[in-house]
Order: sequence, then structure tokens, then C-alpha cells
Amino acid sequence: MLKGIAASAGISIAKAYKLESPKVEIVKKEGDPAKEVEKFNAALEKTKTDIEGVKERASERLSAEELAVFDAHLMMAGDPEFAAQIIAMIENDKVNAEFAADTVASQMVAMFESMDNDYFRERAADIKDVTYRLKCNLLGLTIPDLTSINEDSIIVAYDLTPSDTAQLNHFVKGFATSIGGKTSHSAIMANSLEIPAVVGCGDIMSAVNHGDTMILDAVEGNVIINPTEEEIKEYEAKAKAFAEEKEALKVLVNAKSVTKDGHEVELAGNIGGFKDVEGVLKNGGEGVGLFRTEFLYMDNDHFPTEEEQFEAYKAVLEGMGGKRVVVRTLDIGGDKKLKYFTFPEEMNPFLGYRAIRLCLDRTDIFRTQLRALIRASVYGKLCIMFPMIATVKEFCDAKAIYEEEKAKLIAEGVKVADDIQVGMMVEIPAAAVNADNFAKHADFFSIGTNDLIQYSMAADRMSENVSYLYQPYNPSVLRLIKMTIDGAHKEGKWAGMCGAMAGEENAVPILLGLGLDEFSMSATQILNARKMVNSLSKAEMEKLAEEAVSLSTAEEVLELVKNRVSK
Ligand code: PEP
Ligand code: MG
Repeated sequence: MLKGIAASAGISIAKAYKLESPKVEIVKKEGDPAKEVEKFNAALEKTKTDIEGVKERASERLSAEELAVFDAHLMMAGDPEFAAQIIAMIENDKVNAEFAADTVASQMVAMFESMDNDYFRERAADIKDVTYRLKCNLLGLTIPDLTSINEDSIIVAYDLTPSDTAQLNHFVKGFATSIGGKTSHSAIMANSLEIPAVVGCGDIMSAVNHGDTMILDAVEGNVIINPTEEEIKEYEAKAKAFAEEKEALKVLVNAKSVTKDGHEVELAGNIGGFKDVEGVLKNGGEGVGLFRTEFLYMDNDHFPTEEEQFEAYKAVLEGMGGKRVVVRTLDIGGDKKLKYFTFPEEMNPFLGYRAIRLCLDRTDIFRTQLRALIRASVYGKLCIMFPMIATVKEFCDAKAIYEEEKAKLIAEGVKVADDIQVGMMVEIPAAAVNADNFAKHADFFSIGTNDLIQYSMAADRMSENVSYLYQPYNPSVLRLIKMTIDGAHKEGKWAGMCGAMAGEENAVPILLGLGLDEFSMSATQILNARKMVNSLSKAEMEKLAEEAVSLSTAEEVLELVKNRVSK
């Protein structure tokens, strides 16, 4: 058994299809220019025909949007500038065609990869993909044709390229790769195709032979090679139960998140950028409860400009089609560093110069983000929140800067929405305890339990050694959550939660009982949470929550929930 990362949930049992792409070795040789150019033109033509063929076969399964990867490849292969540069090198340097193609492509890849723009970085991946095919054609090597798979298979590969994943047909029951993480291209594609995937399995290529029977458990992140009869039976039952549960949940995509006794809440998704919007909508998200904007800064080599940010926020707001989008201003520092900014040396970076503290110091960075947000506000329903607020003064200072930028934009004649809400994250105990006072100023709260727990328990959320103290169900934490929600309601404001606790099965009943208005979680948890909310009674959960906050240990709270709420 190999352990990896479950990147797209599901369970499959099928034969292994080992994807072994030919190794391309390029050797520089002297060549007759006329012959090499002829060889190059023929290989380029074959490359275009191959891509068209793959696109044609893939079109049975993929949407026009997903097929766009092939259009990009065809455009690349048909780019006269690309061909001209290669031909010029063959003619001027009298080298072999594959060496010229490799050299020209590598230079282009390096150029695109250095650009601070996702679009161009994707183009770099396209160039690699197309030139690989071109070089194989020049060397007479055959690329395995995944579209020809005609029996149930699990693909085993070192990694899957965009064109590999686009070729997967309905016989492909999942894949396992050596490298990759939850956000790698192959993982994102598996999620959109809804096929199970386990990535980052290490040396799976040596462990599996073509045709071996495999169990892909992309719930736990396990790959079992040549399983026993018993294991097969066990996993067949698990796969059946998983599929049935998933199917049953789909009817809830457009359902309301309402309890048996008619109390409605909002179930939203957490996102890191526009690419996550589709997943939230597909899984029935009623909004975005946390847009972590730090990725715009971290996946970059400079502070993103107002224009770059404006485009990113506009895309998300438009993508959500008028549903509420809560955008968190820059939360950097702690463990989140930037390549292009030096943070001060501190003994405890998690307690140091980060998030709103940095923004109130470097108001130039903060103002740029606020302007981009305010300008984007007309494209949807925008809420802005500040992270790591500890004092009422911090919130009021941040809000004042927001008001100044808003007034400036209006004076410049820029159209601005008149219903932008400005709220804050409650993730520092001082803010939770003083919530009723904060609620006089903030339009809403969003409880960040990931940090609230680490600060209440004084236990670093990244440290394995003290992970036993990471206790969402500790009554101390529950009391802080209760104070926050009560504080908001006292002033007629709403309270949400965007920390990981909001999506936990055992937490939803308590939070519902405590009166939480909005729950924001990973997109794939939304339907499960809706099923729970629909099955519970608000009045009963209020009693449960009251009891929970009066208990003395996390274990007692969990016991109470398990006894009282049937799954
Ligand atoms: C939190 O602290 O709960 C939170 C949602 O923010 P992050 O995990 O990004 O710190
Ligand atoms: Mg946080």
C-alpha cells in the first residue's frame, strides 16, 4: 500500500494503466539545413494533426471550455513566429531540427515562466506540452494515446500534463501520480471531472506494473496494489456507499439551508481565487464567506497593482453572480511570507507584524487593495473584512482608511456600490470577549477558528508537539464563539465563521444552536453541511449548545453531540 494525498474524493477498483511517456533525449548534431527544415515541417504538421485528433476524441467528454487547452496547443503549433525561429536556427547554426526546437522552446518557456501573470505561466505549460509532442515526432517516438483506453482503468503516472488529463475518457476510473499536491493542475482537473485521484504517492511507477489490479482510495489517500479478495470486497462496499451518498447529496445543490423548524442559515465556500468559484457554485454554495487574497500576493514577484487586483476581484464577484462575497484584506506574516518583502526578525512571528498590523503600518499597500476592492464593488455583492483585529481602534482606523479611499474614488467619478459591508475577522480572544463593542462599528463578524483556537489555547497551530491542544470543542473556545455571536446579534449584525470548524460534522449542530448565521467552508463540504442543517431543529440545537458551553472538557462536548445528533 502506498500513501499519498487524496486530491479528488472517491473510491475505485480497476486495472492499472501505466502511463510511460517516452523519454526524449536531445543531442546536438550538425545537419543539412534543407533536410532538417523538411523534417521539421513534416513533424510540425503531424503534431497539429495529432492534437486535432486528440481534441476530436476528447470532445465526447469535455465542455468547450475544457477543450480550450487543445485550441491553445493548436495555436501554439500554428504560430508562424515559433516555426520561423526554429527554422532560422536550423539554417543559421546548421543544427538538427530537434535541437533547434528544444532550444527555441526552452527560451520561450523561461520567458513566460518569469512573467508575473497566470495567463502567461499557463502558456509556458502549453509550449512544453506542444514541443514534447513535436520532439517525439521528430525522433519517431510514439506518445501513448490515452483516448484509446477501452477498459476500466486507473492511470498511474509520474504526473499528468494538461493534455493528458483532457484525454481521459469514461473508462478512466481515477489516477495516482508520483508528484503533485491538492492544488496541482492534475488535482484540479480530477475534481472538475469528478474522478478520484491520489497524488504525491512517491515512487508509484516502480511499485505498479501495467495491468495490476489496484484499489484507489481517494478518501483516505491510499493506493492498494494487487489487493486480496477480502480487500476488494471491503472496498467495493465502500465505493458503493460513497457513490450513493454523493448522488443523494446532489439533490441539495439548489435546496435551501433551512432547519426542520424553519430557521435559515447561509452555507458559503472559502476560496483562494477565481479558479475556486466554479467549485463553490457546483456544490451549492450560497456565497463566498472567505476569499483569502494573500494568494494574489504570494503567487507573485511584486505587490499586485491596483489594476491586477481589480481584475481578480471583479472576476470573482461576477463569477458569483450577485451572491455575497466576503473578501479578506491582506493577511500576510506569521507563516505566510512574500518573496519580495522582508519581514522584521521576530521571536514569535504569529504574534508579530502581520495582517492588519502590517496594513495599518504600510498604508500604501493597504490603500491599493482597498481601492481595487471598492472599484470592483459594482460587479457583485461585496463585503470587506479585516484580519487579526485586536482592538476597536484598529478596526476604526482601518475603516477610516477605507472611507477615505471610497470618498476619493467617488470624487474621481468612479462608480461605487452603495451596499458594501465592512466587517472583521474574530480570531483573537480579545476581540471575541469585547465583541459587543466591536459590533457597534463593524457590519459583521467572521470567526476565524484556526487562529482563535491557537491564540486561546496558546498552542501553535503548526506544531505537532502541541497539537493535542488544538481543541475546537473545548468549552473555552465555544464560550468565545458564543460571546462573538451574541455580541453581533445585540447590535443587529450578522456573525459567520470561516475557520475549518465551520464545516465539521460535530460542530455544525452546536454552531447552529449558538445562532451562527453563516458557515463558510471548503466547497466539497457544503452539501454535507446542508444535509445536516436540513435534518436538525434549531430549538433542539439551542438546548444542545447551552449544555455544551456549560461542560468542562472537549471530550464531554463531543460525547454530548454524538449522543444527541444522529448521523
Ligand atoms: C482562521 O484563522 O480561522 C482563518 C480562516 O484564517 P487563516 O486560516 O487564513 O488564518
Ligand atoms: Mg486566521
